[in-house]
Amino acid sequence: MIAGIRDEGNDMTEAGTTASRVAIVTGAARGIGAATAQRLAKDGFAVAVLDLDEGSAKGTVEAIEAAGGRALAIGADVSDAAQVEAAVERIVTELGPPTVLVNNAGVLRDNMLFKMSDSDWDIVMNVHLKGAFLMTRAAQKHMIDQKWGRIVNLSSTSALGNRGQANYSTAKAGLQGFTKTLAIELGKFGVTANAIAPGFIETEMTKATADRMGIPFDDFIKGAASQIPVARTGKPEDIAHLVSFFVSEGAGFVSGQVVYAAGGPKA
Ligand code: NAP
Repeated sequence: MIAGIRDEGNDMTEAGTTASRVAIVTGAARGIGAATAQRLAKDGFAVAVLDLDEGSAKGTVEAIEAAGGRALAIGADVSDAAQVEAAVERIVTELGPPTVLVNNAGVLRDNMLFKMSDSDWDIVMNVHLKGAFLMTRAAQKHMIDQKWGRIVNLSSTSALGNRGQANYSTAKAGLQGFTKTLAIELGKFGVTANAIAPGFIETEMTKATADRMGIPFDDFIKGAASQIPVARTGKPEDIAHLVSFFVSEGAGFVSGQVVYAAGGPKA
């Protein structure tokens, strides 16, 4: 290091070492959220595994504990302000103040525009957009107190437009704008915000899409893989790896970015 120049990227204070840090991952009972929670625990974070149902979040907690990590199962609906506030308070009490937040909880209510109901629209906006807003508003004060924080929002390649997903593509594009604004507002407090826009990842969400279309999941995967430059579909661990980078100490100069993780150039 050049004398007089602080290496911000490797600046670990007592309060700021990964070992003392707490991460929240929403929608972490399964899929990308579960893989991310497990990865962050392996990286040394104590992880709040938040999902609609506390019981379903326990599976991820048990996997983390079996691997020697520390985790807490929390049941909360991210689109409900009171539940979000209560969840974050419980996390502060039982694990410590959160300085990493991964807004991953998500739902699909796909339909062509002319068949899309008001509730198809509202639920998708509420979970993805309002959920990320409420979780971030509740968690950011702890990041600002510690002058360090990392926020990662799950967008999607659907943000670029996708047939049958007027609601979902709008929400995922909205999350990109939300991410960039968080980066601008919170940067001076040592907080970064970035978004990951995955392509096809093998989870219950893509399986539900295959089921709805009446296509066996293996065939759906093969069909998708044939269109992807790296010739395979993604696994939850592919996304967890990128989250791990964004929340790392060394990533403090990377903020307001959207990375398309889709096995090829999607944007
Ligand atoms: P998933 O398997 O369906 O898991 C989503 C999790 O979020 C579920 O455990 C679900 O709980 C939970 N959840 C839903 N609504 C919630 C709420 N209101 N409050 C708290 N938790 C809630 O989905 P995934 O495939 O892992 O996707 C994770 C994220 O990546 C989503 O934001 C998704 O849009 C995004 N993404 C996925 C893909 C892909 O190909 N899989 C691609 C691009 C982006 P329940 O089971 O109880 O409903």
